[in-house]
Order: sequence, then structure tokens, then C-alpha cells
Amino acid sequence: MQTIRGFRDILPEHIGLWQKVEQEAAALFTAFGYREIRIPVIEKTQLFARSIGEATDIVEKEMYTFEDRKGDKLTLRPEATASISRSYIQHKMYAVDPVRKFFMIGPMFRRERPQKGRYRQFYQIDAEVFGVESAYIDSELIFLLNELFKRLGLTGLTAHINSLGCPECRPAFQKALMDFLGDRKEVLCDNCTRRMKKNPLRILDCKVETCRQALEGAPATVDHLCPACEDHFNIVRSTLENQNVDFSVDKSLVRGLDYYTRTAWEIQTSALGAQSAVAGGGRYDGLVKELGGPQTPAIGFAIGFDRLVEVMDQLGKAPKEEPLDLFILPLGEGAMEKAYAWSCELNLLGITTQTDFRGRSMKSLMKRADKLNARYVLIAGESELAEKKLILRDMNTKDQVNIAMDCLADELKTIFKKNNKG
Ligand code: ATP
Ligand code: MG
Repeated sequence: MQTIRGFRDILPEHIGLWQKVEQEAAALFTAFGYREIRIPVIEKTQLFARSIGEATDIVEKEMYTFEDRKGDKLTLRPEATASISRSYIQHKMYAVDPVRKFFMIGPMFRRERPQKGRYRQFYQIDAEVFGVESAYIDSELIFLLNELFKRLGLTGLTAHINSLGCPECRPAFQKALMDFLGDRKEVLCDNCTRRMKKNPLRILDCKVETCRQALEGAPATVDHLCPACEDHFNIVRSTLENQNVDFSVDKSLVRGLDYYTRTAWEIQTSALGAQSAVAGGGRYDGLVKELGGPQTPAIGFAIGFDRLVEVMDQLGKAPKEEPLDLFILPLGEGAMEKAYAWSCELNLLGITTQTDFRGRSMKSLMKRADKLNARYVLIAGESELAEKKLILRDMNTKDQVNIAMDCLADELKTIFKKNNKG
């Protein structure tokens, strides 16, 4: 049996980086008042169709949608924003305190062509803020991304930011876009022809070469902002500049989801070929209302966890596996019982200890100690047990000392404290 295409195991030998990122992210977000939220992996299809938008790649062709036994249409979540917004509304969080900051880490599902940095089950680290319209929160989110990447030792990332405007400035922009396109409309792909009716902004995101050519020199949203959006975007930029966060304004950035308004951004890398986006985010001031809640400004981002880990791997940021402190080498049945009890006791004391219950020979157990990269080996043979004196062997220096069996834990604590442990 094999995993299905685009799905993969993350094996224990690779988990170090994942855990390191999770710990750094949780610590940073928590320090800034973001609280963890866990949401279901499956939701009603309608939730995603309505929020992400019918005319988007995700909803049109990437969602894992199925009917359950009763015929309800369900979908494996392709992203987190829709579900977190649903949760915010469902639990009437706005009634108690409209200002909420969340983070979540977990798997997402999209049926895309698998390749490096693109999987059908992938992971996102997500942060969302509800109830704050101020541009300072846009800056905070971009600042947090920048800070997290800095703490993880990531280099070579660039932040591209843009403003998509609001319902106030959209119509004028859409008119400008339509005027610009003129008879070039004919050459647009079928998708774009459909998008033209549903969400013309999305045409700017088309990857088809003929569309790209037709759109060269097209009007940009930032050049058609209403005064309120213009002010908002100015504050985002000046705040980031004051905080020394590197970014560039990218007029062509639109992002592939319908719900975005005002600030949108992407963090890009050159390390992963075509899969250049490591994180993406944006404002979605209309979504909570659209989903049946009160008018609530909101904003968030998602980091592509798999891609982040791949970049870190390339930069050699994988944490070294800690060596094992102690391997207990039991020779004989009576020794095994002791070895089991000691290993439990020592592990609880923080001295990482393993042993072996397969009744192997001295030679094969020494090999196993080597394989486990043990710093010390404790030899517990029949004569050692009879004399209540065990042999502790330093695997680096090959020095051996005797240890009184009755004060084993204390003796080892002293030894490991000397070695900066315990
Ligand atoms: P792309 O343009 O690469 O398809 P996207 O715009 O569809 O990305 P978002 O919906 O913004 O992606 O999701 C945020 C982040 O999640 C992306 O920047 C990316 O790092 C990651 N991501 C998206 N799809 C995948 C996938 N299939 N496999 C791995 N990571 C992904
Ligand atoms: Mg995509």
C-alpha cells in the first residue's frame, strides 16, 4: 500500500524542523495576544464556495468535495480563513468582544498537480484578526511574518504588498480595466471571460501567456484607490518602513481569492522554483458580513508550512538530533527487569535513556548503543548485579568507571550535571 498522489508522510527524521517552526510560531503569536483555535477539517461545501469565490482556482477545480451518506455536500478545508470566520460568527464572538486574534496550524487539502512545494495535503500556519480596521494591524501581521522568518534564520525572502481597494473604489477600477482591455477582451482565455463577469480583478492573476500579454500595462488597483484606502495603505507602508521591515509595493499582486479588500501581500522566495510564495495574506473586510455576521473588518495570513520547511532545509537549518544520554546494556533476564526500571526512572529525571529487551549479546548491544549515538553505556551483567556495582562507559573517551547500584540515579545526576545537563 502506498500513500495517494500528492499526500505524504512526514517522518520522525524530518520532524525536527516542523517542531521548531511550530514552537517559534506559537511563542511569537502568543506574545502578541493571538490565541490558538482548532477548526474542523471538513465543512459544508457552501462555506468555501461562498467565501473563497465561485470563480477562483480553488473552488473551480481544487477542492476535495464529496457527498456523505445522507447526500450532504462536504469539502475538505482548502484554507482556514473561511472556517475561522464561520467560527467567529457561529459562537457570536463579536457580541462579547469583537476584537479577536487567532492562530492555527494544520493540514489543508487542494487537488492540484503535485510537484516540489505543491502537495494535495499541505500544512498552513495561519493568523487572523477580527474587528480592527486600523492599518496598524495590517502592519502588525506583516511585521510578525518578518519577525518569525528572522527568528527561524530565513534569508532571501521578499515581501510584496499591494492594496486592492474596497467596494468604494472597485467600480472605477473595473471600468478602467474594461476600457483598457477594449477589444483585447477577445484574446482572453475562457476562464478570464467568465471572471470578467464575476470578478474582473481576478483576470490580473491569470497565468495564461496570451492573457498576460493582453494585460501588459493594465491599470493597477493602487492607482485607483479612494481617499480612505489611500490613507490606509500609506499608514501600512510608513509603519513598516519605521520598523525596518523590507518590502516592495507590487502593483500586479492580486491573490487568488475573492474576499480580499485593501492590503494584500505575499512573501516570496527564489529557492523553490515556480512555487515562489511562502506566505500570503490580506484584508477581507466584507467576509464576516457576507457569511451572515455583523459588518466586521478582518485580516489574516497563511504560511505554506511545507514550503517554509523546504527553504529552511536548503539553508541547512534542520536542528541536529540530540544524542542519547545513556544506553543500558542488560545481560541476562534479571538485568532486563532492572534495566527497564532504571530507564523509566532516569527518563523521568531528564536523562534520556534507552535499553534493549531482546536478549542480545554484548557485542550486538554495543553496536546498538553506537547506532543510537549514546554518550554513555551502562553495563549491567550478572556479575555486576551480584556485586551491586555497574560499569559506566564513556563512549567518546572509552573511559570506564564503577557506579554503586544503590545510588545509580544520584551518581548519574552528578555526572550529567557536570556535562551541562540535568
Ligand atoms: P500558489 O500561487 O503557490 O498556488 P496560493 O495563492 O494558492 O499559492 P494561498 O491560498 O495564498 O496560496 O495559501 C497560502 C500559502 O499556502 C501559499 O503562499 C503557499 O505557500 C501555501 N500553499 C498553497 N497551496 C499549496 C500546496 N498545494 N502545497 C503546498 N503549499 C501550498
Ligand atoms: Mg494555488
